[in-house]
Amino acid sequence: MHLKSMTLRGFKSFASATTMRFEPGITCVVGPNGSGKSNVVDALAWVMGEQGAKSLRGGKMEDVIFAGTAGRPPLGRAEVSLTIDNTDGALPIDYTEVTISRIMFRNGGSEYAINGTACRLLDIQELLSDSGIGREMHVIVGQGQLDAVLRAGPEERRAFIEEAAGVLKHRKRKEKALRK
Ligand code: ATP
Ligand code: MG
Repeated sequence: MHLKSMTLRGFKSFASATTMRFEPGITCVVGPNGSGKSNVVDALAWVMGEQGAKSLRGGKMEDVIFAGTAGRPPLGRAEVSLTIDNTDGALPIDYTEVTISRIMFRNGGSEYAINGTACRLLDIQELLSDSGIGREMHVIVGQGQLDAVLRAGPEERRAFIEEAAGVLKHRKRKEKALRK
């Protein structure tokens, strides 16, 4: 499984439709400060179901919608589509290519789709959850996060590893059960 392409439309600084293709292997995004490199990573997290405005480096969810510039008015919606190569069947769905899409309107409404068919956020989260990508899987290491890991004490570092290994949720459940 690998990411094939992503299209952004009205997402953060990407006002016009912008498609980027990813070949198997490593992709580097380069550009000057403030040119939108981290916005590309935010788009990835967002289309995979991220629900936290802070994780997307904003104050509220609608901050992902293009807010306008001196020469261009704000837009009313943000849209991101991510196409994943599934020839190895890593995603539990009978398609060799899977496109997940997320649209958000300024009035707060949201739409999600898998291969063009409307679905719920939960469907996208479930599709991705056992594949090793998706939310809370530590597949996205944010700017400055590496520093935080290196500086963390042993307890904190253990929490990172336990979360990545999927142990943390069981530990939390155990603690909750013991408290009862
Ligand atoms: P650095 O190298 O400093 O990390 P970067 O390439 O990662 O920079 P980003 O953080 O991705 O840059 O992009 C920041 C730019 O995105 C800013 O110019 C900001 O104004 C713009 N931006 C963020 N959200 C929106 C939005 N909703 N509408 C329009 N522009 C936005
Ligand atoms: Mg950045």
